[in-house]
Amino acid sequence: MNISMPAQFYLSCPICAGSSLRSLWTVNGYSIGKCNTCTLVFVQNRVTAEELDSHYASVTDDAYDESNLECLSYYYQELANLIGTRFPKPGRVLDLGCAQGWFLDAMKGWECHGSEMVESRAASARERYGDRIVTGSFEEYPLREGYFDVIALQDVFDHFRDPLPSLDKCYRMLRPGGMIAIKVHNISCLYAKLTGANFYAIIPPSHLFYYDRKTLSLALSNCGFQIVDSRFIGHKLKIKTVAFRLSQNKTKPGFYRIYKLLEGTSIGEVKFHKNLHDIITVIAVRPS
Ligand SMILES: [Zn+2]
Repeated sequence: MNISMPAQFYLSCPICAGSSLRSLWTVNGYSIGKCNTCTLVFVQNRVTAEELDSHYASVTDDAYDESNLECLSYYYQELANLIGTRFPKPGRVLDLGCAQGWFLDAMKGWECHGSEMVESRAASARERYGDRIVTGSFEEYPLREGYFDVIALQDVFDHFRDPLPSLDKCYRMLRPGGMIAIKVHNISCLYAKLTGANFYAIIPPSHLFYYDRKTLSLALSNCGFQIVDSRFIGHKLKIKTVAFRLSQNKTKPGFYRIYKLLEGTSIGEVKFHKNLHDIITVIAVRPS
């Protein structure tokens, strides 16, 4: 009897299907490789949902807490303004990975929907948006064909295990002319090039894909989207968050110690504006 087992590693590129891959680094026991055809950088291990569940149960990041709302809201408002220039009249928005619903708060006048994996965060968003906030993964989110004007994915798409099926689903849920906005880390910024495996966003298995303008645009166009804009929107962040980011999810003890020293101090709370082109936002539409 021939029983075929799922491969433990990607043998071809999940975005372009090219079979010429090369290894870059091993980080936290995960092999990170690059596609020689389209240049996508990604975790070559096929990570299971169970593996991710147990990983996330052990990860904390206070940059997504209410204490950091002022910093988070800076980007949320920038994106809301950008959406407003394309959609002067409010419509229906879905925020994937909506956390406590703070981006939705910036979408004033819109019919706001969200999905969120963490029940405590979803419950907080539900206080304002009711049952339009669904707890669970995007795979579990009910398919609503052609329903939304805008779908936003912020700090979430580089965590997805299956990017193309997720984009396909977004495409189907948008009305023709509807827009998707995806914010990810940019693996091709100068800072990432200079730091290699020490780039702060290289945190497998939290981040499984490492995009740039070219590879994210390719993923979107492979699913039928038309790219209309891409830009580097700056961020506001606290000094202590920088130390935490540099600790790469606590795996660099020196930086984590600095974070712990800064925690609760007035210096750690100092906020500043950053734009190293290390975050990219790509906007695409479902053609009418
Ligand atoms: Zn490729």
